[in-house]
Amino acid sequence: MESIASNLARVREQISSLTLKAGRAASDVRLVAVSKTKPARLIREASDVGQIEFGESYVQEFLEKCEDPLLQGLPLQWHFIGHLQSNKIRSIVGKVALVHGIDRFSAAEELSRRSVQHNLHTDFLLEVNTSGELTKYGISPDTLLSEAEEIFRLPNISLRGLMTIASPDTDLARKEFRELRNLLEALKKNAPDPTLLTELSMGMSQDFESAIEEGATILRIGTAIFGWR
Ligand SMILES: *Cc1c(COP(=O)(O)O)cnc(C)c1O
Repeated sequence: MESIASNLARVREQISSLTLKAGRAASDVRLVAVSKTKPARLIREASDVGQIEFGESYVQEFLEKCEDPLLQGLPLQWHFIGHLQSNKIRSIVGKVALVHGIDRFSAAEELSRRSVQHNLHTDFLLEVNTSGELTKYGISPDTLLSEAEEIFRLPNISLRGLMTIASPDTDLARKEFRELRNLLEALKKNAPDPTLLTELSMGMSQDFESAIEEGATILRIGTAIFGWR
């Protein structure tokens, strides 16, 4: 089996060469290592070779990792990338650098309420269902702009961009990435502070090449680093 260190080195190399090939600056694309279902020991291995940003999808598992003795004192930044039930939001507030999966007004409202309560500020992304698959979470592209208008008014949270999970088909995935980028541009025209809207979280192990070409700023990669789940 390949080691985490060599997997990470390979993925980072692929990302930087694709980024340069796309005419973009290397610093424009960040790698979030998706560690869901994987033990703290492997997160530690990745951290030891310089990986800082990690993605988790399940609240209980995430909270356990936050407390894990193996990970104390490491410079980790957590991204919450999973679906969030409203009653779970309060337990992650204050522990995450960025919440990717806000997919409805009520979730943004709860994120805001809990951030106010803890007197802190939370950055988040809206998840958009660009594929139209009924099994996927996310706001419909048709209602995104009107929902965002309400969400911009909520205190103690900042919308930083958009997130999507693309179709398995590579041609469709590319179209969906492009649509997400266009939606972000449209959103900037309506935003109180467009300079905050910098992030496109798109691209996973199977499709990060086209995501980079279509403007991704955050890649969420699990399998290519940590192996099959
Ligand atoms: C699991 C997961 C990923 C990582 O997927 P891989 O195919 O393992 O790279 C990315 N984004 C989300 C939202 C996920 O749930």
